[in-house]
Amino acid sequence: MNAADERARILIVDDVPGNIKALAVILREEFQVRMATNGKDALRLISQEKIDLVLLDVTMPEMDGFEVCATLKAQHETAGICVLFVTGLNEEADQTKGLALGASDYITKPLSPPILLARVRNHVAAKRQRDQLEQLSLNDTLTNIANRRYFDQFLQREWNRSVRGGSPLSLILMDIDYFKTYNDSLGHAAGDDCLRRVAHSLQDTMHRSTDLLARYGGEEFVAVLPHVEHVGATAMAEKFRQTVVSLHIPHPLSQIADHVTLSLGCASMLPIRSASPQLLLESADKMLYAAKEGGRNRVMSIFH
Ligand code: GH3
Ligand code: MG
Ligand code: MG
Repeated sequence: MNAADERARILIVDDVPGNIKALAVILREEFQVRMATNGKDALRLISQEKIDLVLLDVTMPEMDGFEVCATLKAQHETAGICVLFVTGLNEEADQTKGLALGASDYITKPLSPPILLARVRNHVAAKRQRDQLEQLSLNDTLTNIANRRYFDQFLQREWNRSVRGGSPLSLILMDIDYFKTYNDSLGHAAGDDCLRRVAHSLQDTMHRSTDLLARYGGEEFVAVLPHVEHVGATAMAEKFRQTVVSLHIPHPLSQIADHVTLSLGCASMLPIRSASPQLLLESADKMLYAAKEGGRNRVMSIFH
């Protein structure tokens, strides 16, 4: 299947290839179908490509379907995947357990192909709606980059990950200089346009898929750089600063340049369990304040 294929992607997991085939025949006209014959392979495949829905057998050697479902639901990245058990186990206790683990449905054999297809269609439609809502709730509508809510979640997650892995974490807070007078002189619509251009150029400056850029508030942006230490983060901040300078967006009332500029505060640390990401944010904010005090259009950074 090519990258442009937007049909939902369904993974069928069953240790009996004949069972996989029976399900694939029902689904392949309408959906992209992937297959795995054991739980481990299923989890590996899910970590490698975006799967919307899993049809999961319960009884499998080594890792059973309940364990696969529990693993998916325990991780943020995979918790949203829709899980449907398809099994010959039709005891009340099994069904209850499957649903309690977070499965969206529990389908017992013998299968009715049209009913299975109808159920899968409904679950896929619901999953798409949830994805859309999540996307909306985490996106900044003006600039179309991540919003503050997404940033908060991301920072906490990366903080925890860094604590576990003993790796550094860096954060860069950026604030457009004299943006109030930009609006005053050119109007709010021009201000909005400026915010969009700055956001996109900052986004284009980042190349690591693990990095995040978000709109922090009004004319403030924030970048989170996992696994990046002080030197690398300061260099990145300087790159952000230059990127915005090179846009040459005219700013008639700026007191420091004839174009739009940024001040940046950068903080890096090795996260520890007893601290909170708030510490990193406060440090970056102090550095941003120092950058403003020091004359604006500059980077100030600190390493804890
Ligand atoms: P400083 O160099 O100290 O940062 O000064 P400043 O003028 O940039 O800072 P201040 O906090 O006084 O003003 C921020 C301005 O950003 C005020 C507000 O009108 C503007 N702003 C915030 N959000 C938006 C937005 O979504 N669109 C537009 N056009 N302007 C915004
Ligand atoms: Mg501000
Ligand atoms: Mg400002």
